[in-house]
Amino acid sequence: MSDSIQSSVLVIVGASHAGSLLAVQARKEGWQGRIVLIGAESHLPYHRPPLSKAVLAGERSLESILLRPELLYSNNQIELRLGERVVSLDRADKCVQLASGEVLHYDKLALCTGATPRRLPVAEGLPGVYTLRQADDVTAIRQLMAAGKRAVVIGGGYIGLEVAAVMTEQGMQVTVAEAAERLLQRVASPTISDYFRLLHESRGVKVMTHASVTEIEREQETLVLTFADGTVLEADLVIVGIGVEPETALAAEAGLEIGNGIVVDGYMGTSDPDIVAAGDCAQFPSARYGRCLRLESVQNALDQARIAAANLCGQRVVYDSLPWFWSDQYDCKLQSAGLRLEHEHEVVRGNPAAVGSEGLSVFYMRGDRMIAADCVNRAKEFMACKRLIAERLPVNLAALADESLLPEHFEQR
Ligand SMILES: Cc1cc2nc3c(=O)[nH]c(=O)nc-3n(C[C@H](O)[C@H](O)[C@H](O)COP(=O)(O)OP(=O)(O)OC[C@H]3O[C@@H](n4cnc5c(N)ncnc54)[C@H](O)[C@@H]3O)c2cc1C
Repeated sequence: MSDSIQSSVLVIVGASHAGSLLAVQARKEGWQGRIVLIGAESHLPYHRPPLSKAVLAGERSLESILLRPELLYSNNQIELRLGERVVSLDRADKCVQLASGEVLHYDKLALCTGATPRRLPVAEGLPGVYTLRQADDVTAIRQLMAAGKRAVVIGGGYIGLEVAAVMTEQGMQVTVAEAAERLLQRVASPTISDYFRLLHESRGVKVMTHASVTEIEREQETLVLTFADGTVLEADLVIVGIGVEPETALAAEAGLEIGNGIVVDGYMGTSDPDIVAAGDCAQFPSARYGRCLRLESVQNALDQARIAAANLCGQRVVYDSLPWFWSDQYDCKLQSAGLRLEHEHEVVRGNPAAVGSEGLSVFYMRGDRMIAADCVNRAKEFMACKRLIAERLPVNLAALADESLLPEHFEQR
């Protein structure tokens, strides 16, 4: 073990999926000096995905979704600095400054600053209009939720659709307004987009596509939304879910290389040898896909944190995990593996017109190799696909669409 990790100070900015795990893993990997984990949110690090699912539905409390108990941090001598924002980074003096004015020296720094919701200029500052990223957002939104109320969700991505599902199940009247020609356009195939549109419409959600909101006004308690085609909608609550931007401000001001996120190499190292980055904020070179990527998922945040921690502690490991993701809407669990980049054809297993518990899978193929899969309520198929994609195994094409054959027959033998 090198001398540096015996007595050096590791400062981690951002205390969520990536930052929290990076701290714990660095200790496990042998970091013996101080570890300071700084987070702008005042809560102990928590699982973010349930915010738009069980927490919004009121089925889970914040206390029940903590990533780790407080004791785990103290037992590992991880100093938690919660409710504190890092406002500047001085790379020459190797220190960060907190909003309070306090300056902390580091030997190694990890930026796990995540992402922040994209803003909709016409919605800025209006009461009753929310984005959903943090636990405090959910607390505020829940105060306005009640059966019979009207909600407009701007943006038909995963978070918007999860919010729409929860609000519909709570008896609210929900409209999803998506500017693109289909739901989930950035992340899913047309087959999956159509499936989720049908699912939401079958539950009573009004789905608008090609719908660009041009104005929002507040008339007493009612929000009045005007769209580019002249449509006018009234709402008691508006949720803006139009994507996120990587949180790169600190890194950019300190002169680190920035692309679509903080630029890192395969080892999660930034353009400064003493600074790593991981999670939603990081743009990395993917050997698997032969291009630079920035992903927004728990898998990516956790796997990158593990790699960054190992490398900080003297190892030399490259990040090359298979991306995977999930989304829960009503009784449907979508699980996705791999990225649907340049696939040649798709195979559908199940009936896309029969939405509900039976689910379906869509496999994205290049020749006889599967490069990605979307599976709805089909956990066994998802697990089989993950292996086929990760190990680039040849696939038995005929078996994919044949529901009489179990997933173990997917592999060509
Ligand atoms: C509502 C919702 C539902 C989601 N559902 C899913 C899902 O079902 N499946 C899935 O895989 N992914 C899901 N995601 C995405 C997933 O939560 C993110 O990919 C993951 O949280 C990324 O973790 P991270 O640690 O990189 O960043 P974040 O979770 O964004 O955390 C970054 C933290 O850094 C803090 N921070 C930033 N700047 C500073 C600073 N200067 N000083 C101090 N602290 C700072 C922020 O306050 C924040 O707490 C969801 C996200 C949201 C918002």
